[in-house]
Amino acid sequence: MYDESTTSLRVAIVTGAARGIGAAIARRLASDGAAVALLDLDADGCEKVAAEIRGSGGRAWAGSVDVTDSGRVEAAVEAVVTELGPPTVLVNNAGITRDNLLFKMTEDEWDAVMDVHLKGAFLMSRTVQRHMTAQGYGRIVNISSISALGNRGQANYASAKAGIQAFTKTLALELGKFGVTVNSVAPGFVVTEMTAATAERLGLTFEDYQNKAAEQAAVRRVGRPEDIAHAVAFLAAEDSSYISGQVLYVAGGPVN
Ligand code: NAP
Repeated sequence: MYDESTTSLRVAIVTGAARGIGAAIARRLASDGAAVALLDLDADGCEKVAAEIRGSGGRAWAGSVDVTDSGRVEAAVEAVVTELGPPTVLVNNAGITRDNLLFKMTEDEWDAVMDVHLKGAFLMSRTVQRHMTAQGYGRIVNISSISALGNRGQANYASAKAGIQAFTKTLALELGKFGVTVNSVAPGFVVTEMTAATAERLGLTFEDYQNKAAEQAAVRRVGRPEDIAHAVAFLAAEDSSYISGQVLYVAGGPVN
């Protein structure tokens, strides 16, 4: 339970933290000294990662949330405040894909992606900013994607990820005077279950899909969740107080 004597401790919330990039971000922020709340639809997955963090001497708590549901978002953030203290870092990472070419894309596929990425980031940020502005300090990092620049078969996802960038810049303008910075990390290809599922949909082995992605990257390799966690940790650090409203592409090369 939260103890007043730990108020100087940074408390980070990571959504979509049960696996993939979110789990790597949670591990990294914990190793950088934050008490980390791992939230996801999959609370058991979060608990596994949290237990691993605690096993290596870090502080972590796992909870469940559906970021599209305002009631569950409020309850989850309240639980974090009770368990770890008021949040100072929020990483909006939860995400889904529902890829389809425009002429086949259903309204449900469009809505589901908009809801998780955009409404999810909105609900989480609106709830958490209260605690940050009250403390006069905060770091929000939103996970966008290179798909924000346009990607065939992802009209929904690309629009949501571009929206995340506009959301980031707007929050940076609104929250800066309260000591809260807001930035975005836009990953390129990262090896996770999300990209494994895309390979399957495209009829490729995951290995072939990764090889193709590596060939296209300037650094000739694919990204790992830890590469994204490193960029998030940089933007979430106290010393990054003069960086706000930025989009950092982490894609193994320039993007256009
Ligand atoms: P992932 O392995 O599929 O993990 C995403 C996590 O988000 C899952 O644990 C998922 O839970 C959770 N989630 C989905 N909907 C949720 C909701 N409504 N509320 C709470 N949690 C929810 O994906 P990833 O590759 O790590 O991606 C993480 C983020 O990076 C996403 O925003 C993604 O768009 C972005 N990104 C990824 C790549 C890449 O190459 N992998 C590239 C650019 C950007 P369930 O499994 O229970 O659904």
